[in-house]
Amino acid sequence: MTAYEIIAAKRDGRELEAGEIDGFIRDFLAGEITDYQMTAFLMAVYLKGMTTTEISALTRAYLDSGRRVDFSGVAGTKVDKHSTGGVGDKTSIILAPLVAALGVPVPMISGRGLGHSGGTLDKLESIPGFRTDLPVKEFIDLVRQHGLGLIGQTADIVPADKRIYALRDVTATVESIPLISASIMSKKIAEGIGALVLDVKYGNGAFMRTPQRAEELAASLIRIGTDFGVKTVAVLSDMNQPLGRAIGNWLEIRECLDCLRGDGPADLMALTYELAAHMVVLGGGERDLEQARSRCRAAIADGRALEKFIDITRAQGGDIRFLENPQSYPDAPHQAVFRADRDGFLAGFDTTAVGLAAVNLGAGRRRSSDRIDPRAGMLLHKKIGDPVAKGEPVFDLFAGDAARFPEAQKRLAKAVRIGDTAPAPPPLIGKVIGAGFSG
Ligand code: URA
Repeated sequence: MTAYEIIAAKRDGRELEAGEIDGFIRDFLAGEITDYQMTAFLMAVYLKGMTTTEISALTRAYLDSGRRVDFSGVAGTKVDKHSTGGVGDKTSIILAPLVAALGVPVPMISGRGLGHSGGTLDKLESIPGFRTDLPVKEFIDLVRQHGLGLIGQTADIVPADKRIYALRDVTATVESIPLISASIMSKKIAEGIGALVLDVKYGNGAFMRTPQRAEELAASLIRIGTDFGVKTVAVLSDMNQPLGRAIGNWLEIRECLDCLRGDGPADLMALTYELAAHMVVLGGGERDLEQARSRCRAAIADGRALEKFIDITRAQGGDIRFLENPQSYPDAPHQAVFRADRDGFLAGFDTTAVGLAAVNLGAGRRRSSDRIDPRAGMLLHKKIGDPVAKGEPVFDLFAGDAARFPEAQKRLAKAVRIGDTAPAPPPLIGKVIGAGFSG
C-alpha cells in the first residue's frame, strides 16, 4: 500500500498489517514519507486506536529503527523502572541505588522534564559534574562494575520515537494509549532489560486522569512487555497532589538524600518501597514481596543505598561533596512564600498547575531550548487533609530571579483549594497488575 492508502485505512478504522506499519515507519525515517503524512497517520491512530497486534508491530518498528543495548555480558536479570510522569516524582533516584545495593542490576535510561512534570536527568544534573550523556559502552561498564548506570536517551536508541514524539507534541496526539505504549516500551525494551516495573499515574497531575485510563494504559504496556519477553509489573499510583514535599531539581535531590538517610516523607517512601520491592522480586533478588520490602527498608536503615548513590555519583563524575554536605550547595538567591488565604483544610490541588508554577520559577522548560535553574522550585508544607490557618505558608518558593514569583504565585492561587472540612487524603497506591498480580 502507498502512504496515502495506509493513512486512509487507519482513518477508516481498518487493522494494518505488521509489514505495512513497519514500512510506514521505515519510509518516514528514510525521508520518503513527509511530516504532514506522518501527522495525519498519528491523528488517525489517536482517533481510531490500534489493535494489540498493531501496537506490537508499531513497537517492533520503533525498536528496529535503532540499536539495542547488549547486557548479555552482565550477570543477573537487569531491571528498570519507568514512571509515566508527575510532580515531585523522584522515586527513581532513591530506588535505583537501593535496588542495586541489594544485588539486582539496574540500567536506567531516563528522560528530561516534559511540560509540568519533572525529569530524572535534570535532577541528577543539578549535582555539579554528574554526567548523563554517556555512550552505551560506558553505560554497560557502569552496570557491570557498580550494578547501576543512570543515563539519558542516546541518539541511536529508538530514533523513530524521538522524531515522532516531536510531531505528537505539537499536533495534540500525545495522549493516545497505542502511541504512548509503543513509545515507552520500545525505549525500555531497547535497554536490554529482563524486567520492568511501571509506575502508572492517574489524577490531575498525570497524563491519565482516571484510574480506569491508567489501568488501560498499564494493560497495554504489560502486554507489549510480555510479547517482547520483558517481565512487566505495573503499580497504579495517585497523582492528585505532589509526591513528597520538594519540587525542583536540586531541592528534589536533597529530599532524595533525606530518604536515603532514612528521613524521607512517608508518601514518597511508601511508593519507593513498593516499586523497589517489585524490582527486587522480578530481578530474582527475593521470592516474596514482603521479604523484599523488609530488605529494602534494611538497605536504607544501614546506609547501603546511600553508599551506592554516592558511589554511582562519583563514577559518573558528580561532586559527592554536595551529597555528603547538602548545606554547602548554593541557595537560590530569592525566596518567597505562598500563604493560605483563609482558615480551613487543604482540600485539593490542581497538580498540573503546581508543576507549571515550578516551571514559572525556572525549575522546568517552557521551550526545549530553555535552560533550567537547578536551585529553583518549591517546598510544600501542606498535603490534602491537613488543617491550615489564614497566612500560614503552603509553599516556600525559590528562584534565581525575583521577577519569576508573581506568575508562580498567581498560578498557585488557582491551584490550591482550601475547604471547610478535612477530605480523606486519596490513597497513594492503587492496583498492582501484571506478572501474577491482578489487584
Ligand atoms: N513518555 C514517553 O516516553 N512517551 C510518550 O508517548 C509519553 C510519555
